Amino acid sequence: MATCPRCKGPLTDGHRCPRRYSFVALEIAAYAIGGALAGWLLLFVFDPQNQLSDDAVALAIGAVAGIAINRFIRA
Ligand SMILES: [Zn+2]
Repeated sequence: MATCPRCKGPLTDGHRCPRRYSFVALEIAAYAIGGALAGWLLLFVFDPQNQLSDDAVALAIGAVAGIAINRFIRA
């Protein structure tokens, strides 16, 4: 069987190279950071005095949501 010149995998019909792990990890990190910023911004919009909650919680929830969105898009 022919091998793909780029990923060395079996070159079947409709072959698509698997994405490199480091790139995937970077992408997830980017989504996590974006999600964290979005969560923090939302918190700021809805709670400008920061009375309700913790910045860290908003950042964490945003990061998790960002990763979930990334996984959902890529699934
Ligand atoms: Zn390939």
